[in-house]
Amino acid sequence: MANPPFVIEYQPHFCFHSGCLNGFEALVRWDHPTRGRISPSDFIPIAEDTGLIIPLGVWVLKTACWQLKSWQNAFHSHRTPLRVAVNFSGKQLLQPDIVSLVKRVLEETDLAASCLRLEITESVLINNLATAKARLKELSQLGVQLAIDDFGTGYSSLARLREFKVDVLKIDRSFIHQMQAVSGNTEIIKAIIELGHGLGMSINAEGIEAPYQLSSLKKLGCDEGQGFLFSKALAPPLAAELIVESAAGNSYPTSLLSL
Ligand code: C2E
Ligand code: MG
Ligand code: MG
Repeated sequence: MANPPFVIEYQPHFCFHSGCLNGFEALVRWDHPTRGRISPSDFIPIAEDTGLIIPLGVWVLKTACWQLKSWQNAFHSHRTPLRVAVNFSGKQLLQPDIVSLVKRVLEETDLAASCLRLEITESVLINNLATAKARLKELSQLGVQLAIDDFGTGYSSLARLREFKVDVLKIDRSFIHQMQAVSGNTEIIKAIIELGHGLGMSINAEGIEAPYQLSSLKKLGCDEGQGFLFSKALAPPLAAELIVESAAGNSYPTSLLSL
């Protein structure tokens, strides 16, 4: 895409065990000449219907991998290398050449496969069971991490989870928002965390906005998370500043460390 009207912002992921920045989720935005910045929730469904999601998805994947590699080159760290998570829509996952595309992008950008995470929504997986299972297996063999996004919204049977070869479960933000300061309302989250851990997955919670949500999630054993409590999605220069701060030993905002 020459001069695409799209930009990518990066929302940080923090590890709850170490308190450290461990990566970003790449979130695309459309800079419209008259309507301003448009949210992906408004244009991704249209891009899916029109087929534009295929070239757009390639551009997002290449740009995010290139961006992470250039941060890795610029800011060496002794810690585990940062990771970037890229959202994949159903149409993308079902493309016959998707595995060779991911392999090629990793080679072209010289990014280690383990530093790329692909996020696929639960509904995509359950609506395309056989093909999705085969694609996930091949992608996993490349060494990339796989995550089920928006988990809990797709009405899949929990038993189905075992069939997918995924590394991470992302608890949908609707569950995090239902947590309450006093009564907790954490039973479903507790069950998802236990189930995910039982199946060898790590758990990411998205949409964390309040300190009590963070403290409860940590007590329940959740591994990592993202949300406005830490940071919204950042333009690349601000994300780079965060990497520099975190390499200097600063973990997530100090006011949150004691939670
Ligand atoms: P998602 O993958 O579940 O991404 C998380 C969404 O939650 C993002 O919205 C993010 O800004 C928002 N969010 C993060 N923290 C909080 C919080 O604390 N509270 C609340 N209320 N929201 C929070 P965004 O950027 O508007 O993206 C919406 C969806 O668009 C994404 O949901 C993803 O499904 C899709 N999307 C974004 N970028 C891409 C892309 O490159 N390709 C594809 N296929 N889909 C994308
Ligand atoms: Mg996502
Ligand atoms: Mg999500």
